[in-house]
Amino acid sequence: MSNPSSLVLPPYKGSIVRVSALDDGRIALPAKFLIQPPMFGHDILDIPAFCFLGENDQAGKKVMFDLGIVKAWSTKIGPTRESVRGEEHCSCLFSSLSSIKAIIWSHHHIDHRGDPSLFPSTTSLVVGPNFKSNPAIYPGYPNNPGSVTNQDAFNGREVIELDFSDSQPTVGNLRAVDCFQDGFFYILEASGHTHDHKMALARTSEDKFLLLGADAAHHRGEFRPTPLIPLPDSITPTPFEHPNSISVCAGAAFEPIDRSSSSGAARTTPFYETSPIMMTDPNACQETLEALKVFDASPDVLVIIAHDYTVLDFFELS
Ligand SMILES: [Zn+2]
Ligand SMILES: [Zn+2]
Repeated sequence: MSNPSSLVLPPYKGSIVRVSALDDGRIALPAKFLIQPPMFGHDILDIPAFCFLGENDQAGKKVMFDLGIVKAWSTKIGPTRESVRGEEHCSCLFSSLSSIKAIIWSHHHIDHRGDPSLFPSTTSLVVGPNFKSNPAIYPGYPNNPGSVTNQDAFNGREVIELDFSDSQPTVGNLRAVDCFQDGFFYILEASGHTHDHKMALARTSEDKFLLLGADAAHHRGEFRPTPLIPLPDSITPTPFEHPNSISVCAGAAFEPIDRSSSSGAARTTPFYETSPIMMTDPNACQETLEALKVFDASPDVLVIIAHDYTVLDFFELS
């Protein structure tokens, strides 16, 4: 199939990874905290918190991308977060945590860190650039009383701080680190949401990839539609069940809520923008979103963001 985005993906090095999505809890927030402008009837986002297990059976390598919600926040970090709930660590799903070679934190937020202290010291923790020099997140609480992370995540294990400034490969205009040097799992520099935010690109077959977008967006409407993937004129067969819906144009049904419908860019402008609350660097955030749009337009890449409730009906989740 042709690739409308002209995205250049990394060459195949003979190695692929099987990726499992783990559904680690729910977060309910006013939509305006995450996306804008407000839309009538779309006031609350009740969203999952996914983490991902990558398994390369051939090489015997396993990696976690995020660990989900910090369950013990009331004892490990400061104030209560009643909007975050989760009953069980995703780590409880594994019979042997020692098989996990590395945990990669997409970034330092409470709904992504989980509890690395449950893993043996042989599991390393991978963090983003300048992580260890930021006193707001490192060292962790209680060693550093003002930290939002917890110190037992770091104790006794190798904490690897990524540095994208070396001559690294570039994927989709983003600087990348080939995690295991065999081309099946790349970490992509994708700051803006936070300074240490990253995405991951997993090769699931010789020519297909999963792009794990973490919090580069919190709703697919932040990166769809675009000129690369415009709203269609119609969807066949119709997704509507009403017997008279055969005459409904699905693309036209969404057009009235397109933010640019009056400016001639209807059907090609994302429905939402990122809320300022979700950005530490607006320019970097937008650059990451632009990269995400290009990945999303590729027929060889499936994009899944960490809080994407739209996939709950389609994927079998652990
Ligand atoms: Zn976040
Ligand atoms: Zn998040």
